Amino acid sequence: MTEAGKSETEVLRQHIVFAQFGELALRSDDLDEILTESCRLVGEGLGTDLAKVVELQPDGETLLVRAGVGWKPGVVGVATIKLADDTSEGFALKTGKPMTSSNIETETRFRYPSFLVENGAKAVVNVIIIGGKDKPPYGLLQVDSREPREFTESDTAFLTGYANLLAATVDRFRLIQEVRDKEAGERHELEIKVAERTAALAASNEQLDAFAYTVSHDLRAPLRAMEGFARILLNDYAPALGDAGGGFAKRIVAASMRMEGLIDALLGYSRLRRQEPAAWLVDPTPIVQRAVEEVQAGLESIIAIDVVAPMPSVMAEPIVLGQVLTNLISNAAKFQRDDVPVQVTVRAEHTAGRVRIWVEDNGIGIAPEHQERIFNVFERLHGDETFPGTGIGLAIVREGMALMGGRAGVESDPEKGSRFWIEFAEAAQLATASDDTVRPKS
Ligand code: ADP
Repeated sequence: MTEAGKSETEVLRQHIVFAQFGELALRSDDLDEILTESCRLVGEGLGTDLAKVVELQPDGETLLVRAGVGWKPGVVGVATIKLADDTSEGFALKTGKPMTSSNIETETRFRYPSFLVENGAKAVVNVIIIGGKDKPPYGLLQVDSREPREFTESDTAFLTGYANLLAATVDRFRLIQEVRDKEAGERHELEIKVAERTAALAASNEQLDAFAYTVSHDLRAPLRAMEGFARILLNDYAPALGDAGGGFAKRIVAASMRMEGLIDALLGYSRLRRQEPAAWLVDPTPIVQRAVEEVQAGLESIIAIDVVAPMPSVMAEPIVLGQVLTNLISNAAKFQRDDVPVQVTVRAEHTAGRVRIWVEDNGIGIAPEHQERIFNVFERLHGDETFPGTGIGLAIVREGMALMGGRAGVESDPEKGSRFWIEFAEAAQLATASDDTVRPKS
């Protein structure tokens, strides 16, 4: 082959290498793969099997062999070169110009690291891989030859073009990494903030619960004293009090009793909130029936309460479920209309792995804008004279259902009545969520 023919073949080979690199840089999202493949491709372009990319470390004076082909184990990812003026690497980085040594054995300008010699390198060419805008150089692309060799201008021009393409690719990876690091950093703050807020909220909830519990306890004694003294006034000092005084004393007794009822309800709610979550598979039918009996026993006259039984098993804790149902059924019996006989129905619905128990009435209903807030503590829509109550029943319903891994809600029409529902977690979901939540307490 003629010299001209040979160089044409080389140029063609180098064009192919460029094309292959372009394809690789677009396809791969793995910088190590790109760097290693680059070494193989430039080796191919220059007809040698030894090449490497050395990366400038953050200290600015060490180069690490980041990728390479043809090297014995212990070089790639491990070997380092200390930058100094008498190294061709230092020179290439300082001047930005390609540095070549056609025979390192006879080289007098530079010293070379021992691993080069140990790996059989006889000649070296270095070109700089520049950094992105305002950034230090990424490192060097080095091609080594196992034979002493003169690297031609065309060789270094090819390598410089290649190293510039590599620089653009590396810079793209650096930018992506910077964005990822920034995002990860931001997420991690956010996460810390959420954790802090959650912990603060849990602590303040606990304090609030402890406060409610203590206050309720401590309020009882003076309240009983007030009620007791008012009764003594009524029993032993009636003539002195007269009708008006007696009336006031009676109102003290009634108000004290009402307050005692509120405190009891608040204590019950506090106790529930301090309880550990628990639920296991139970048949709700007898629990519903007992709740119905309890409500009926508290009423002056028997009302129609239908229970559609049997009901499917649910994930619940029987005592809490009893409290939830008693509150819902007693509300259904209480908030009735004057013009229609009361009809309460308790039934279950089983759809797509979920069980809902509905407590339906034909009472006064609830306007849409109030349907959510009535589940909060002390939220009532009527005066105590119209419908007596504490305003805690539905808070107990919601809290109790949450304790058992379930939910509660209402559908209501002021014309027709209300349909309160409680929904239970699926057995399979709870069982995998936590062992504690499914184990019956001994
Ligand atoms: P209480 O029944 O002691 O007032 P609840 O927390 O149980 O307290 O209920 C809060 C409020 O929600 C009630 O005061 C009432 O206004 C409304 N409510 C609850 N259940 C019904 C119902 N079945 N029909 C109409 N309104 C209801």
